Parts: sequence; C-alpha cells; structure tokens
Amino acid sequence: MLDKTTKTDSRIGPIGWEGQTLKEMLERSEAIFDRTGHYQGLKDLPIRTGKPILYEKIFSHLRGGLVNARSTALNISASPIVKEIGELSFALYTPEGESVALSTGIIVHVHTMSDAIKYMIRNNYEKNPGIAEGFIFCNNNSMIGDVHTADVHTLIPIFWEGELIGWAGGVTHEIDVGGIAPGSMCYGHADRYGDGLLISAELVGTDDVFHEDYLQRCRDNVRAEMYWVLDEKTRLTGCQLVRDQVFRTIEEVGIHTYKSFISEAVEEGRRTLIGRVRQLTFPGEYEAPTFIDIPWSKDETVHALARKDSMMHAPLRMKVSGDGHLSLSFDGANQWDYHSFNCSPSAMQGAMWVQLTQTLWNSDKINDGAYFASTLELPYGSWCNPDFDKVSTTLTWFFLIPAFTGFIRSLARAYFARGYLEEISASYPCTWNLTQGGGVNHFGQPSAFTNFEQSCQGTGAQYAKDGEASCAAMWNPEGDMGEIETWEHLEPLLYLGRGLKANSSGPGRYRGGCGSEALRMVFKTPGLVLFSCGEGQVFSSAGVFGGYPGNSGYRHNVHDSNIPELAAAKKPYPVLDGDPENSSISALASGREVFDENQMTGPHAFAEYDLYTAVQRGGPGLGDPLERDADSVAKDVNGGELLERYARPIYGVVLVAAGDGKAKADKTATANERQAMRKKRLERAVDARDYVAAQRGRVLEKDFIAPVRAMYASSMKLSDRWAGHFRTFWSLPDDFAF
Ligand code: MN
Repeated sequence: MLDKTTKTDSRIGPIGWEGQTLKEMLERSEAIFDRTGHYQGLKDLPIRTGKPILYEKIFSHLRGGLVNARSTALNISASPIVKEIGELSFALYTPEGESVALSTGIIVHVHTMSDAIKYMIRNNYEKNPGIAEGFIFCNNNSMIGDVHTADVHTLIPIFWEGELIGWAGGVTHEIDVGGIAPGSMCYGHADRYGDGLLISAELVGTDDVFHEDYLQRCRDNVRAEMYWVLDEKTRLTGCQLVRDQVFRTIEEVGIHTYKSFISEAVEEGRRTLIGRVRQLTFPGEYEAPTFIDIPWSKDETVHALARKDSMMHAPLRMKVSGDGHLSLSFDGANQWDYHSFNCSPSAMQGAMWVQLTQTLWNSDKINDGAYFASTLELPYGSWCNPDFDKVSTTLTWFFLIPAFTGFIRSLARAYFARGYLEEISASYPCTWNLTQGGGVNHFGQPSAFTNFEQSCQGTGAQYAKDGEASCAAMWNPEGDMGEIETWEHLEPLLYLGRGLKANSSGPGRYRGGCGSEALRMVFKTPGLVLFSCGEGQVFSSAGVFGGYPGNSGYRHNVHDSNIPELAAAKKPYPVLDGDPENSSISALASGREVFDENQMTGPHAFAEYDLYTAVQRGGPGLGDPLERDADSVAKDVNGGELLERYARPIYGVVLVAAGDGKAKADKTATANERQAMRKKRLERAVDARDYVAAQRGRVLEKDFIAPVRAMYASSMKLSDRWAGHFRTFWSLPDDFAF
C-alpha cells in the first residue's frame, strides 16, 4: 500500500486536490462555508442518505482504527501519565485540518491539533519546510495550537497517489518540559522564557524517522528525557497506525468515496450540534461569571513581576439563538499577566469543544463540525487572548478550568427551561491539588514529576442524583487515579495513605461527589521542590439552584518530621489528615508544620521525611440543602463523606445514635429544626432592592479589596460593553471608573 502512495513525489508540485496548493484548498473551504453556511457547501449528504450502511461502515472503520492506535500506543509508552492514566489521544483530519474522527482519551486536543495544522497551511509550510510523505511535525506552542506547553503533538501528512488526503495527529502530556522549575506545568516565573522546551510546529523527521538532532535537543532540554523520547515514538506509532487504517479504508471504498465521506462527516457533525442545541436548550442569553485568586504577594518563590495578589475574572455569557447556533463570550475578562495561567485562543476553543462533547454533543460522531456550529468570543488583550505572544502558558488550566464551569451552569439553566431535567449538572469541580515538583530522585537522577491523581475529582450534583466520588476531570472524561505503586516508582514520595475527604462535597438537595486526599512522605532524596496548587481564598466552582460549591484548598505540610523516630519506636503514624480541625497529622506527627488556607504556592523546598498533603476537590451541589433527604445525610455521615457536626448547621438534620457507632436521622426533630432554620432565614432576609442599594454604596465608594478593584478596573478598561453593563447594573454615573 505504501508503494502505491509514494509513486508520485509530492515535493514536485502542489499537494492539494485538483492541482491546488494546500493554502488554496483551505481558503476555498472557508470561502464556501462563509457563502453557503455548509461545510464544503454540502446541502445534501449523498453517501449518508443514499448509502447509509456504507457511510456508517466507513466511520466505524476509521474510528476503530483510531481507538486501536491509542490502545496499541499506550503499551509503547513508559510514561505513567500516558500508560496508567491514558493521557493521550489520536485524531484524523481533512487536508485543511478539520477533525473527522477521534479516539478516546484527552480529546480536548482534537481541536488544538486542528489549529496547529491550519497554522502550517497558512504559513505556507508546503513551500518551506515542505509537506511530504513520511514527514513528521511536532508542536507544543499554544499560540500556534495547543492547550499548554506539556501537551506535545505529533502530526503526519497522509498522501495517496501524490495528493494530500489528510493528517493523523497524536498528543501526549509530558511529565517535564524543561521549564525553569521541575514538573510538566511549572509556574511562578513571569513569561514564556521560563516555560521550557518550545517546539513551534517544526519538521522533526522525514521518511517516517525522527531526525536524531531533534531527539538530542529534547534530551538536552528536559528532565525526564527517557519519557519524552519514548512518548515521541508512542505518538508516531499511533499516527502511523491511523494512516494504515486510512489506506485500508481507501483500498476498500475508493479514493473518491473517501474524499466525499470526510466532508460529509464534518458537515454531519455541524448539523448534529445544531440539532442538539435546538432540541435540548431554550434560546436566550445566560450569564455565569467565575473568579479565581492568586495569593502571591508574600510568596518569595515566585518571580518579582508575579509577586502580588490578583484575581481572574471570567464573565461567561452563553447565547442560544432560535436556529440552534451556540455562542460563548468572555467579553469583560481582565488582562493577561506575568503568571503561567494565560490561555491562548486555541486552548479556549479546545476547552469549549471538550465540554460540548460531554454535554450537548455526546453522540458517537464527534469531530470539528461543532466548530462550524458555534462561536467563541475572546477579548483581545485579556488572559484568554493575550496581546503579548510571549506570555507564559504552562498552567493555562488554572484559569481555563474554573472559567468554563460557567458554561455548564448556563447549560443547566437552559436544559431546565426546556424541561430536560436529567441532563442538568451543577458543573464540575476544579482539578486540583496538583502535586508536582522534582529534584534528584530515588535513583539518584535529576528528575521531575506531575501526579495525575488529580484526574479523579468528585462530579457535580445532578438534578435528581448526587455526584459521584473521585472519578472524573473536566478535561478527560475517562478519569483514573493511577496505582499508588506506579506513582511511588516515579516520584521520591511514599503514600502514607489515600482516601475519601469528608466534607469536600458541595452541599445541596443533591450533593456533589466526594473528593479525596493523599498524604505523601518525601523519601530517598537529598531534597526536591514541590508545588501546592489549588485556589487560595476563592470558591472557583459554584453550585446551581441554591446548591453550594465543594471544598476550597488548604495546605498541611510538615517539615523535619519525626516519622523516622515514630517508625523506629513502632508507634502509630498519620495516614491521612482527615478532619483538619482535629487533624491526624498534628495528633500523631511533629515537626515544623505549615498549616494554612494558602494552597497556591510556587516551588517550595522539601527534604526527606517531610510530609505533604494533597487534597482533591468535591463536586458542587444542586438545590437547597434543607430539601435533602434526611436519611441520605445520615448515610453520608456513616460513610465518612460528611463530618457529623455539619449535618445540623448545613442540612438541618438532627442525628441520633443507631447502634454500632452509626447515626440515623430523627425525622420529627429534623422537621422542627428545618422549620426553625427557614424562619431564621426569613428574619435575616433583605428585600432585593435594599440589598442592591446597600451594595451600590460600596461600589460607588470602590470599597473592595485591592485585587478585586484591580480586576474590575482591568475589565472595564478592556471592554466598553462590559463597563457599560457594570454601570447599568449598579445604576452608576456614566463616568464611573475604578
Ligand atoms: Mn496537558
């Protein structure tokens, strides 16, 4: 099959269809879409309607090939993030770079690879460095097309008889990218110059073989060099398997049918999303802002330009039009800054896309069709579309994850208005703590690690059901914590324990799923640095319909611990922190404790036997907690998911002993307690007009803490529309500004 495809040397003439260059093909495709509103102008889908079985067969064939490529490639990789957690995915693209079909896995990248392919086309790679059979391209530059630096793409062109008929792409998340501090998503530096190894859609191999000078540059620049190089091979192998499957498909159905099919599949994807939006949501405009804080004014480990307290503003607006067009806008977002949480437009598109695939658009035919059925507005100069292309983007997720919770909350309201109650979710929690760091490891080697148990957080409550405990991440619907033993092999930290974290669920009529925690002990290393990464003082994922957010972060670490003495004396040692107000760590171990609510720090030094707590998040809740079934509250207490002393103040549930150390709800006392709580609420209640008037006074006096004031000032400066919106809402004078 390969012989057949290489008969014509593609480097001689244009590689597009019908003698066009690739750039001409892309421009033509975009012009046709603008003119007709259909992908490639397809008003009809002749194969899909005329030969539906053939159509489905081709799709299944290609999708099967992609899933197979992923499963095979998983076993080539040595990197635990790839092998254990499955942080890789593969996709097939049209010559112009639209995804046709994809594998399972971290599908957030399917659209970012599309951006990278289009970048190469627009920048005339066909001419220089050339696009030919057997060429291998690599990209991890988010300004070109990526989420963040750790996600590395391999892209290979697929040729058939001298014509480019598509691209195969694969992506893995690397354990280290050679940034200024160890770990795949290091932060605390000011800008891109600390981000690490940047590969900007480069030609890194020919004739299906990597250029040795490229691999050597990678080995020289990253800490976990073996994993990087093995993952290069993993991605290339997967891409080659995808290419083989395309060849097999063409052998069977013919090139003409294949070409028609890929256009129809994208157009069908576009129509599917429109149909789902029209069916499931109620037209209108929905607003759901989110915030997250960076409490760095006193953190001496971060760069001087980053050393301040600041806030992110993500004023998400979702518009659903009557004809089923979905648009999201972040107009009003505040400015980018000297931290690593800035997002490129490609990352934002990828996030929107991965949220669509888990909500409105959960059919089997998922591809870039959604891109043609939706719009995303990202204000230029803001954190989500920086006007400085040297911003740092190593931990884009820190802003991106909270920002898109507003999308899920907006969808909840849109589903509710339409009556699709079973689709409603109170959104997802953010995926931290992020345990990462590095130094000399337990094999005496320079190393770095990023622990991906963060891919298992509690899920949001649903309309008639609690969230699930510790099982998912917004960026990877197939969450997996990984085996403790695997992480211990990679990281010079032992697990003293891993378990559910009581009180992490967001309360509500239905509560969020419970989060988890792990207690780690630094072991067999002369020293390393560890990050603590979560929100500081802000709840970054709200509940819906009266439900509350899940837990926010805290830090409980012990330096110079007495664990060696405890072990020598065979005394009990802590396995989890448990209830922080009655901490097992404080009770059983001693040393220099760092115990506070600041869970967003740069890289801090740790030595052998130091303890590190990693608390993951629980999902947000839905509905009024006073409406929660009292027996369910007792069950949560008995199951260790809710601390007993919170049953009454949060849920109004009065518990009594039920034997065996278990509790049960006293129904009569609970009813009385809830009635009293409702009465108290009424007494405390303020007329909305009075409340707004009182708050307006504060706004007029600019009576906010400094980071909030700076955030609003920046939003008003970047967007006249948002500034007008803010002034109108608070009835402020036309010249009001911060
Ligand atoms: Mn990643």
